[in-house]
Amino acid sequence: MSLPTPATAPRVNPLQRIWLREIGMERLWLRPAPVVTAPAAKTSVASALADIASAVTSQAPVSKAVFPDQSSAPTIVAKEAAPAAAASAVAAPAVAAPAAAEVEPAAQVVIPTGRVTGRPTIPASILNRSGPPPRPVPKTVEDEAVEAPRVPVGEAVKNATLDELREQVVACTACGLCQGRRHAVFGQGATPTRWLVVGEAPGEQEDRQGHPFVGRSGQLLDAMLAAVGMSRDTDVFITNVIKCRPPGNRNPKPEEIASCSPYLMRQIALLKPERILVLGRFAAQTLLGPDATIGSLRGRVHQLKTDDGEIPLIVSYHPAYLLRSPSEKARAWQDLKLASQMV
Ligand code: URA
Repeated sequence: MSLPTPATAPRVNPLQRIWLREIGMERLWLRPAPVVTAPAAKTSVASALADIASAVTSQAPVSKAVFPDQSSAPTIVAKEAAPAAAASAVAAPAVAAPAAAEVEPAAQVVIPTGRVTGRPTIPASILNRSGPPPRPVPKTVEDEAVEAPRVPVGEAVKNATLDELREQVVACTACGLCQGRRHAVFGQGATPTRWLVVGEAPGEQEDRQGHPFVGRSGQLLDAMLAAVGMSRDTDVFITNVIKCRPPGNRNPKPEEIASCSPYLMRQIALLKPERILVLGRFAAQTLLGPDATIGSLRGRVHQLKTDDGEIPLIVSYHPAYLLRSPSEKARAWQDLKLASQMV
C-alpha cells in the first residue's frame, strides 16, 4: 500500500512569484494542493457489485430530474412515440395492403407441396375456410339436358329396328313438342304392310290415345280405305310426319318437321311398303319438296327414292280438309283408285 503524497506548493522562481503577486494570485497559486485520499482497494465481487448498485442508485435521481414526476414520464414517452405511431398509422394502409396481398401467396406457398407430388393443389380459399362444408347444388333439369350428349335423331335412328324406333319416338325430346304431349304417336297398322299412309301430326284424340287417326278424320280415312278394300289391321300402316301433337293443332314448324322427319324416313326404310299414300300439304312437302302444293302434286304417281329403290307415292287431300270441303271427296276417290290400280 502506498502512502498519500504530501501536499506541496508548486515551485516558482522569484520572477514568477513577483508576477503572481502583481496579478493578485500569489497566495492562491502557491497554496498547498488539497490532500487526495486513495480509494480502498476492492476485495471481493460482492463489494464490486455493491459499488455498481450504488452507482446505479446514485444515477436514479438524475433520471427523475429529467422526468419531474412519475406520471409525466409516460406522457413524455407517449408524446415522443406519438409521431412514430402516427407515422406508422398513416403508413399502415399502404404497408398493410401489400402485406395482406402477400399473405395469400404465402398461404398458397404451403400448398404447392402438392405441385411437387403432381397432385392438384387445393385453393387457399377452400383450405382456409371455416364452417360446415358447402352443400352440393342440386342439378336442374336444364343442367342434365346440357350434360347429356345430344345425338341427332337422324344418327340415332340409323340402325334401329321398328321396336327400337318406337321406343325412341316415345322418349324423344328433340323438339319442344315433347313438353306438351300426352303420348307420342308412333303409328299403327299392319307389319309387314302393303300401304303406308302418312298424315300430318296427331290431334287431340290421337294425343290422348297414342294412336294415329282415331278422331273424325280417322273415321273418314278408314271408310276411304275400306272403299278400295284396304284395312289398317291387315294392309295399311298409318303414321304422321310429326309424332307429337302441336299445341292447339297449329301447323308444325319447320324445325319440328326437320327434327321429326328422320323417324318417318326410318319407318319407310323398315316397312318397305308397296306404295305410300300421302295426305295433306305438310306430308307432301316433307317427302316431295317444300314448294309443292296439293293441287300440283295430286292426280299422278311420284317415285320416292330410297336406299332400297323407288317406292310409288300418291298425294291426296287430308281427311280433315275433306270434312270441311266434302265436294273434294270425289277427287280424293280418284286418288285412291289411282293408288289401288297399281297393285
Ligand atoms: N290428322 C293427322 O294428320 N294425323 C292424325 O293422326 C290425326 C289427324
